[in-house]
Order: sequence, then C-alpha cells, then structure tokens
Amino acid sequence: SIFSGLGLDSRLLKAIAKEKFSKPTPIQAQAIPLALIGKDILARAQTGSGKTAAYLLPILHSILQRKALQNSSNRTTALILLPTKELASQVTKSIITFTSFCGQEIRAINITRKEDDEVQRAKLLEKPDIVVATPGRASSQMNASALSISDLTHLVIDEADLVLSYGYEDDLTNISTSLPKSVQTMLVSATLRTDLDTLKGLFCQSSSPVML
Ligand code: AMP
Repeated sequence: SIFSGLGLDSRLLKAIAKEKFSKPTPIQAQAIPLALIGKDILARAQTGSGKTAAYLLPILHSILQRKALQNSSNRTTALILLPTKELASQVTKSIITFTSFCGQEIRAINITRKEDDEVQRAKLLEKPDIVVATPGRASSQMNASALSISDLTHLVIDEADLVLSYGYEDDLTNISTSLPKSVQTMLVSATLRTDLDTLKGLFCQSSSPVML
C-alpha cells in the first residue's frame, strides 16, 4: 500500500514525503483507514512499528478537515496520553514534523513540560487543538479548570500497559467521567494484558473496538 491511497490531507502527505517514509508500516496501513472512518481501535504495537504516525496522522487529518469546513473556533479536540514526559516530548516532536506544511493551522501543547503554571494555564485556556500529557498532568489541569475536554473528539492512550503499571488508574477514571460520549479512542500497547479491559471499559464507548 502507499500513503497517497489512505485519503490523508495533501499537506500531511508532503510532510510524510519529506520524512522519506516510502510506504505505510503494517500498523499504519491497518489503523489509518479505520481511524479515518471513526472506529475505536485497540492496537498491539511496539516502539519502532510506526505506531505514533498511525494515530497522529488521522487526528491531524480530522483537525484539518474541521478547519476547512468551519470558520473554526478554537477547540481542544485531541488528547494524547502517555506514561512519561520523555514520550510526551517525542510525540510532540512528531506532531511538529507532520504539521510542517500546515502553517499555523494546528496548535499542540505538551503540558508535561516544566513551565510556569499560569503560563500553561493561559495556553490551555486558548484551547490548542491537541494536548499531549501524562494522565496525572491532564487530570490535575482538568481539576484546576485549565484543561477542558468537553470538545474532545479523539483520545489516544499510548503505551497503555505502562500507563497502567505506573499507577495512573485514578487519573484515567477522572478523565473518563468528563469525556464526551462520542469520542473516538485509540489504545496502543506493547502487550494486551487483561487489565487493559479496564481501559476498554472506561474509554471505548462503542461496543466493540477494532483489535489490531
Ligand atoms: P514509532 O514506532 O512511532 O516510535 O516510530 C519509529 C520510527 O519509525 C520513527 O523514527 C518514525 O519516524 C519512523 N517511521 C514511522 N513510520 C514510518 C514509515 N512509514 N516509513 C519509515 N519510517 C517510519
């Protein structure tokens, strides 16, 4: 398969070409078309599989599409949860890479970065399109009324097995109670342990997520 056959925005395809990705990896070829039609996805994928692009590209596509259709008000429509600051920073870098042909159209913020609370609060209140966070950071910024997830359309929990083993379950429960019913969820994990059923129960509102 080829990237141009996946139905992604041409600005994203340009960035992919610039990265010299010649063709989608297996997880990308499977997940991207399903994500683009709104499926909840539970994917078993390791680091190195191309999993980051597999969930980022459909999210970026959907943000570009919304902005092309509407006189777009600022909305935080995507929340990407990861177990560590380091992973949050890597994913934020990937967002910058993939949006390099999108001008200022897509705004993302990594709230695991050390920064002044008031500065971060102000940035969150401007409703960046994408928020990258650990569950703990997301949850505390929700409790502080800085992060609102009421407009969320996309939720990713990456490295979900680690997220669980790091003890973020209470934060995830807190997040799930404020989540709009219609949100599309993608859970990515190196192992599909049985306790991922907890996450499936909390976040996959549609009866059956596609398992990859
Ligand atoms: P990930 O599994 O998301 O951590 O990605 C691992 C690495 O593979 C990253 O450095 C990506 O830039 C790279 N990568 C992702 N998708 C592709 C692709 N389709 N072709 C070549 N490299 C890729």
